[in-house]
Amino acid sequence: MGRLLFLLIAGLLLACHDDEKRAGLWLSFDDRSINQWYELRDLLRTDNVYVTFFITQPDSLTKEEVDKLLKLQQDGHEIGFHGSQHVLSEYYIKENSYTEYLKDEIESGLNTMEKLGFECTSFAYPYGAKYWFTDLILFQKFDILRGVAPLNKEKDISKIDEVYYSFNGDCTLFSFGFDNNSGVTDDMLEKAMDRAAGRNEVLMLYAHAPVSSDKKGYVFNLKTLKFIISKAKASDLEFYTSKNLR
Ligand SMILES: [Zn+2]
Repeated sequence: MGRLLFLLIAGLLLACHDDEKRAGLWLSFDDRSINQWYELRDLLRTDNVYVTFFITQPDSLTKEEVDKLLKLQQDGHEIGFHGSQHVLSEYYIKENSYTEYLKDEIESGLNTMEKLGFECTSFAYPYGAKYWFTDLILFQKFDILRGVAPLNKEKDISKIDEVYYSFNGDCTLFSFGFDNNSGVTDDMLEKAMDRAAGRNEVLMLYAHAPVSSDKKGYVFNLKTLKFIISKAKASDLEFYTSKNLR
């Protein structure tokens, strides 16, 4: 009887686990726009949207910014790491050494994050500068590494295979940017999300700071985020953070 019960529970757990692998969206925001991100709090909470914030230069966070980040973490969002100084990994390693890269760009900032109350298990490369050697080093520190993918010639995100995660355990991921300077349109995003929904994949997206205009730069129009959220809801896409992606 005990054995049967064990099998039943194991079966249920497996079934639950499979259920989690639903098509979805992984939204992330880079750098240090804590105050602007915090203003998204109510929007994210109302729509049950969970995202990952990748923090750079944590040594210069103010107490108020740390408190806001802790609140976002309590809400269920994930806090990831984005470099102690925001250097371009490959150049920094060539000009210095990989041990210095690890010490200066990774470990020092990670220690600061830990002291502030954040256990970062995912890393987004500054400038998306990711290559096999840094991946190899950084997998000793993180579970997930994120690069970025540019828009293709066809201007069709649904054809950029690397920005879709298919639950295959490959944790070197790429994401597509929806900042105002990315050239992305709502139609492109809609088609991209249709692919994720149709193929049971997770579309990986990232951006920087929210604004209420189309002004160019590493900022995104809040309207774009609202469009993404409403399309995701309509397509029954799950919102994943890095930690629940695997
Ligand atoms: Zn950055």
